[in-house]
Amino acid sequence: MIRKTRLFTPGPTPLLPAAQFAMAAADIHHRTPEFRALYERVLGQLKTFVGTKNDVLLMASSGTGAMEAAVSNLTSPGDRVLVLSAGKFGERWEALAKAFGCQVDLVKAENGFTFSLDEVKNALKPETKAVFLQATESSTAVRHDVAGIAALLKSAGSDALLIVDAITGLGTTKLDVDGWGVDAIVGGSQKAVMIPPGLAYISLSDRAWKAAETSKNPRYYFDLRKERKNALKGESSYTPSVALIAALGASLDFIAAQGGGDLATVRDLLVENAETCAAMTRAAVQALGLKLFGPGPYAAAATAILPPEGVDSGVFVKELKSRFAAIVTNGQGEMKGQIFRIAHIGMFDYMDTIGIIAALEQVAAAKLNLPGFAYGKAVAAAQQVYAERTGLVKAAREAEAVHA
Ligand SMILES: *Cc1c(COP(=O)(O)O)cnc(C)c1O
Repeated sequence: MIRKTRLFTPGPTPLLPAAQFAMAAADIHHRTPEFRALYERVLGQLKTFVGTKNDVLLMASSGTGAMEAAVSNLTSPGDRVLVLSAGKFGERWEALAKAFGCQVDLVKAENGFTFSLDEVKNALKPETKAVFLQATESSTAVRHDVAGIAALLKSAGSDALLIVDAITGLGTTKLDVDGWGVDAIVGGSQKAVMIPPGLAYISLSDRAWKAAETSKNPRYYFDLRKERKNALKGESSYTPSVALIAALGASLDFIAAQGGGDLATVRDLLVENAETCAAMTRAAVQALGLKLFGPGPYAAAATAILPPEGVDSGVFVKELKSRFAAIVTNGQGEMKGQIFRIAHIGMFDYMDTIGIIAALEQVAAAKLNLPGFAYGKAVAAAQQVYAERTGLVKAAREAEAVHA
């Protein structure tokens, strides 16, 4: 049969056609009123998308650039910081903090697990200047309790800044940035906003801006103080990624239109959408006889799945690609061969989710000897979840009750 390539990867995510058109049309110079109007509009939309009253800044880098900016602007060499690490992206915070001379305390959860609030509490010191974590650890598809950790910092009377990599958390996970007291939040373009890689964004609280003023780290390209000063005038410090910014504007317009034009409403819709795709996928793989990686809490950004005993997870990656041109990801680093991941970030909908689940059934039928396998079991489990979550089942029951 014909195969259409489809990405099911936790970054890059499938590109939004409207954003691709906007990119192609974006031959404007960046020191012009046209660009300033675009930039101001997109920065304003991003604030709503992130859900903060604070300024959001854009930088021309992949997400890691904004993670580095968080470390270089908000810490000083010798600062004691706490990194909560549960996978490859947690390790990135650790490496970045060390690269900038921080003394790193580490709470490390095994791959597939999150840390307990008690562990965090015990590792927190009066001199801890910052706490770093992911909202969702994309390498293991685990969700961390950002709200719980924010509340813990408050109840412990800690002055530590709470710095969150929400690169796959934004658009998939409920995050009350200002309400919880998140001091820095980082996002990336190739995730929920459905545009190519190359843009990162970051927002800082008032407390974080104070730290940025007193940090002793040298900064140049990623100097957030300078970037904010320019952003307030509708300018970027250096040549911005004009095409990607135009794409981002088109994407945020598209996202807003999904909820009648109100970006704030759609933020919740997007989260709900990812949660439903993830719940459908989890139910399906279990109905197929496969196991999820770790005990949860599971992220809605992606689902990490264990292959049957003795099977390399690469079989799923390879078979889904060669049979259906569906691109899923293997485990990263030491998890390679151990798990495969299906993402739910960005523009995945019911059709995509049912499609990848049905494709998984075909791979299972062709390649695995799963006890009790029958076509349709995984799809049926996903259908049930979809109906429950979107209210179809509830509505039918209510209608029945009325007729009875
Ligand atoms: C994708 C991702 C990043 C950023 O990676 P880049 O390759 O630098 O864009 C960081 N953290 C998480 C959790 C991610 O999923």
